[in-house]
Amino acid sequence: MKKVALNVNFDSLYFPLSIDRKRNLDPTFFKVADRFFEMAKKYDFKFSIYVIGRDLENERVADQVKKWHEAGHEIGNHSWTHHGNLGATEPQKQKDEIMRTHERITEVIGEEPKGYISPTWSMSPTSIQTLLDLGYIYDTSAFPSPVMLAAIAKLKFNSRTDQKFDANFMSRNDKRVLLYGTRKPYLIRPEKLHKPNTEGLLMLPVPTVTPMRLPVWHTMAFMWPLKIHLWALKQAMKKDGFYYIMHPADIANYEEDFDPAIVKEYKDELAVFERMSDTIEKKMYLFESAIKTMSTNAKLVTVREVAEDILKEKKYAQG
Ligand SMILES: [Zn+2]
Repeated sequence: MKKVALNVNFDSLYFPLSIDRKRNLDPTFFKVADRFFEMAKKYDFKFSIYVIGRDLENERVADQVKKWHEAGHEIGNHSWTHHGNLGATEPQKQKDEIMRTHERITEVIGEEPKGYISPTWSMSPTSIQTLLDLGYIYDTSAFPSPVMLAAIAKLKFNSRTDQKFDANFMSRNDKRVLLYGTRKPYLIRPEKLHKPNTEGLLMLPVPTVTPMRLPVWHTMAFMWPLKIHLWALKQAMKKDGFYYIMHPADIANYEEDFDPAIVKEYKDELAVFERMSDTIEKKMYLFESAIKTMSTNAKLVTVREVAEDILKEKKYAQG
């Protein structure tokens, strides 16, 4: 049976609001995360969860992540501060972001992470070299679809008041990946990011379908009819190296999940918060529909297991 994986890019919800998380415990790691694990229990599978290093500075959050690891879920690296367009920053900053998170995760779970996803899928020669140096098995930062250009424009619009946020397409180091990068799993080298090499780190690009390279990940379930989404999901699942990307925002609602004092204080910011006003009921329905489709047509494993099989069976694009 085909193996596919479930990947949670764990963008904690208090994070973009710059809430003082020392005083306010982020519900994303508690009641929101529990919804992921309820489903994992019901359908008997493990997630691959990529955490933001800085979130693990809070000991109660770190304890939660340790529990997830002990329950068999894979914990991966999603950078230290979730800097938008990390791949365009100073090489030293990129290295620090990846290494610091690597060290903190290792300290918390007692094992080195082997998988990485860059914030806003922004990669660079430095990120690839750093992951190779740290002994990573795979990276999921390639987004080989022009649809990302629309997403970048939207991110820029959403964060227009944030001076630190830089999501310009022109400054990205991976323009060729976004426009016409390889869609199959491939071996990536710092000197050539968009095409297969004969050796290097295993890149598992964001799954895409049709010649238009429509990306298949859970956010799309909110954009088009569910029937179409599940059709696209089935198409994408037939390919090697499929993983389904989710975010905590996919199963959360700020009025139900956030501290009421925070909802009041951050009213304006929350108004532009992506898909956070949909009911949890609707969201859980979309989530379960996707899980059902995957679990009836494939075996759900971690991204690491998918990656290791591809390497063992040499199922990557030839360079
Ligand atoms: Zn993220």
